[in-house]
Amino acid sequence: MSRKSLTFIFLIFIIFLMYSISTSAQSEPVALDLRNSNLSENIINLDGNWEFYWQELLQPGEFNQQSETEFVELPAAWNGYNLDGESLSGNGYATYRKTLNLKAGEQYGLKIPRIFTSYKLWLNGQQLASAGMVAESRAESAPQYLPQTVFFEAAAETELVIQVSNFSHRSGGILESIKISDKDNILALNNKNLAYDIFLFGSILIMGVYHLILFLKRRNEYSLLYFGLFCVLVSFRTILVGEIYFIQVLSDFSWEIAHKLQTLSFYLGVLVITGFFYEVFNSFFSEKLLKVFTLAIIPFILVVLFTPARIFTLVNPAFQLLTLIIICYLLFIFYKVFKTDIIQKKNLTSLYIMIGALALFITVLNDIGFLSILRADQKLFNDLFVVGNLSSLGFLIFIFTDSLALAVKYSDTFVENEKLAGELLELNKNLENKVRARTSELFESNAKIREQKKDLEKANSSLENLANKDALTMIWNRRYFDQQFTLEWRRALRSQTSLSLLFIDIDDFKIYNDQFGHDAGDICLQKVAGAITQSVKRAGELAARFGGEEFVVLLPEIESKKVKAAAELIRENIGKLQLSSPLTGSVTASIGAASIVPAAEMKENELIIAADQAMYLAKKAGKNLIEVYDKNKKEQYIKTSSI
Ligand code: GH3
Ligand code: MG
Ligand code: MG
Repeated sequence: MSRKSLTFIFLIFIIFLMYSISTSAQSEPVALDLRNSNLSENIINLDGNWEFYWQELLQPGEFNQQSETEFVELPAAWNGYNLDGESLSGNGYATYRKTLNLKAGEQYGLKIPRIFTSYKLWLNGQQLASAGMVAESRAESAPQYLPQTVFFEAAAETELVIQVSNFSHRSGGILESIKISDKDNILALNNKNLAYDIFLFGSILIMGVYHLILFLKRRNEYSLLYFGLFCVLVSFRTILVGEIYFIQVLSDFSWEIAHKLQTLSFYLGVLVITGFFYEVFNSFFSEKLLKVFTLAIIPFILVVLFTPARIFTLVNPAFQLLTLIIICYLLFIFYKVFKTDIIQKKNLTSLYIMIGALALFITVLNDIGFLSILRADQKLFNDLFVVGNLSSLGFLIFIFTDSLALAVKYSDTFVENEKLAGELLELNKNLENKVRARTSELFESNAKIREQKKDLEKANSSLENLANKDALTMIWNRRYFDQQFTLEWRRALRSQTSLSLLFIDIDDFKIYNDQFGHDAGDICLQKVAGAITQSVKRAGELAARFGGEEFVVLLPEIESKKVKAAAELIRENIGKLQLSSPLTGSVTASIGAASIVPAAEMKENELIIAADQAMYLAKKAGKNLIEVYDKNKKEQYIKTSSI
C-alpha cells in the first residue's frame, strides 16, 4: 500500500474518533425553545435529546412517578443503546418524551416520518396520531409505516409523547427526523413530497413500459429489457418508500408484504442494473464476475421471499455491502469506458449512460449511508448523509440520461437503416431495369423458339408426308394404306359396320410402256392417280398406289349399292383422261370391288384378296370392267387370285 493511501486512512480514522467522542457526551435536556425560531418560514427537525423510557409504555401524566430518566439522541434506531451495561437489540418497546416552548395559541404542524415499526403520539395529553399497534409483545403488536401530518394549537409548554414498539424489523425506534413548522408549511411540504413521489412513479413507470415494448419489438437487445425492468422496479419502489403513497390508498395493506416488495425492488434492481451494464459495456465487463454477482444476489432474494421482515432485514447490511462492491467494480468499468469509449472514440451514448450512473451511485450510496445501522450509532454518518431518499432523484437522472442514450443509439440506427434502405432501393431499381431488359430478351428468344418449333413441326409433318406418299404419283403409298387399313378394319369390327375396297389395275400397261417408253408410262401413272383421287372426296375415304400400275380405294361405312357407283365414277374419270392406248385407243382400268362387315375370326387381308379376285374376274371378262365380289362365286375367285 502506498504512503499516500495510508495517510488517507489514518486521517479518516482520526475524524471518526473525534465524532465518536463528541457523541458520547450527553447533555441534560431542557425544553426546546422555538419561540424565537421563525416557524412561519422555517421547517425545523425535532432532533437532539429526548427522554427515553425503555420497556415502558407511558401515557401523558404518568411520568412523575419515574425515578430515573434516560436521554437519547434522535433520529436514531435504539439498537446498540447502552442501558445499565446492556446493549439493546431492535426488538422491544419504549416511550419518548420531549417538551417544546412554542408561541401559545398559534397553529403548528408536525410531519411524522415512518417510525419503526408502530407508534402512538400525544400532544399536550391528546392522542393525535398512530400507526400499527403498539404493544409489549410480538403477538399483540402490528407494524405499519404511515408517514403523516398532525396539527395542533400550542400551549405555553407543549409536551410530545411517543410510544414505539418494534418486533418486526431489524431496527426499532425513530430513525428519521420529526419536523415542525407552522401549519401551512407542513401542509405544503406534505403536498410537495406526495406530488414528487407520484410524479416519479408515473414518469419512471412510463419509461419502463416504453422500453419493455421496444424490447418486444427487438428481442435481441437485452439492454432494453433490463432497463425497462429497472424502471418498473424503481417506479414501484417510489410509492413503497418516502411518503409511501400507496398506504394512503390501501391503508390495510400488509406491512410484511409491502416491506418484502420494497426490499425485493432494491435487490432485483441491483441484479437488473448489473445485467444492464453488462449489456451496454459488454467489451469491458467480465462475464465471470457477472455470474459471481448474480449468484451472490440470488440467495438474498430467496431470503427475502421466504423469511419474515425481522429476519430478512438482518441480512440487509450484507446486501448493502455487496451493492457497494458491485458499484466499485462498475466504477472501475466506467474508468475503462471513459478512457477508451469516451476520450478516444468520443462515444456520446457511453457518456450519457455514465453521467446518469454516477448520479445514481452517489445518491444510492447516500441513501445506504442514511438508512444504515451505522448511521444510527455514529454522528459522522449523520452529518455526512444529511438528506435521505435522494436515490429517487438519482434514479430519475439515471433513467433520463439512459433513455437519452438509448434514443440516440436507436436514432443513429434508424438513420443508418434509412441510408441502407435508400441504397437498397437504388439497387432494386437497377435490378428491376435489368430484369425488365432480360425479360424482353427472353420474350424475343421465346418467340423465335416458338417460330422455329413451328417450322420444325412443318418440316416434320412434310417429312412424315413424304414417308407416307408415293414418290411418283404423290398419292398415299402402300405403307400408309396398310396402316390406315388396319385402323379402319378394327373400327369396323368394333362398330360392326361395313368396310369396302376397290382394287384398280391399269389394262395392258406393259404394252403401253413398250410402245411409249417408261417415262410416258410414269406420266400415265400420275394422270391415272390424279383421276382416282379426284373421284374420292368423302371424308374417311382414301386412295393409294398399291404397287406398279395397281391402285386401291378404301371406302368405310358406305352402302353396298353405292360401292359400284364409286367404282364406276373412277372408271369414267380414267376414261375421260383420253390417254391414247396402242390396243384400245384409250387407257382403261379394270376394277374389283368388295364389301365386308369384319368378324373377329376373319383375317385383315380377306377384304383385299376379295377385291383383288373380283378385279381378276373383270380382266377375264374383257377388261375396262367393274366386278363386285360375290361370296357365291367363290370357286372362280380361288383360281384367279394372285395375292
Ligand atoms: P393386264 O391388262 O393383264 O394388267 O396387263 P398388263 O400389261 O397391264 O400387266 P403386267 O403385269 O403384265 O405388266 C405390268 C407392267 O407395268 C409391267 C411394267 O413394265 C409396268 N410398270 C410397273 N411399274 C411401273 C412404273 O413405275 N413405271 C412404268 N413406266 N411402268 C411400270
Ligand atoms: Mg397388274
Ligand atoms: Mg395391268
